[in-house]
Amino acid sequence: MEHAYKLNLVTQATAAFNCRTCTGQRADQWYHDMGLWIRRQARKHGVDVGQAMAGFAVLSTNSTVDLNMRNFTTWLEGKPVKHFGDVKRRLRLIKRGDINGGLSYKRGRKIVSFYGNLRYPRRPSETPTIDRHAARILFGVENDDAARLGKNLLAQKRGYAIAARVYRDVAREVGLRPHELQAITWCHLVNCKNEDS
Ligand SMILES: [Zn+2]
Repeated sequence: MEHAYKLNLVTQATAAFNCRTCTGQRADQWYHDMGLWIRRQARKHGVDVGQAMAGFAVLSTNSTVDLNMRNFTTWLEGKPVKHFGDVKRRLRLIKRGDINGGLSYKRGRKIVSFYGNLRYPRRPSETPTIDRHAARILFGVENDDAARLGKNLLAQKRGYAIAARVYRDVAREVGLRPHELQAITWCHLVNCKNEDS
């Protein structure tokens, strides 16, 4: 299976590298750029950068990037944020300075990876953030069943680790960091749906 995953990821990477929107916006630098924005917001509100990034990661669950950014600034301003599950409890821990406590999930590798990618975008061997879009790409974006198959993969015990390894392997081949490859292929999927047609 992993060979098919790699081919599909290479296909999506090639489409993204040939996309004027993605290359023009340097979509591979998404984590770096978003990290700068979070740092600015943290400074503005006198919040520790690590705490701010952990809060941003925790708030990202089940929300779009735009909504996440809005919720994040609301949270920094000390106002109540609409939340899912135990986000509120996690945000409380993070605000108290317990970043690890706020980020500790039993099956939450996505949020922990997201935090790591934002905080250390220049580190070489980070685990990329594998969300449902990143998983879907491994089954081919033209495949109508890809969304369902991606979800199934992430539900498997080793699914996240397998997907992360595929991103790491292809990233090495194309000369990007794993989360940079994930960022540009993700951006192309989410933002440029009609670009190539
Ligand atoms: Zn694109």
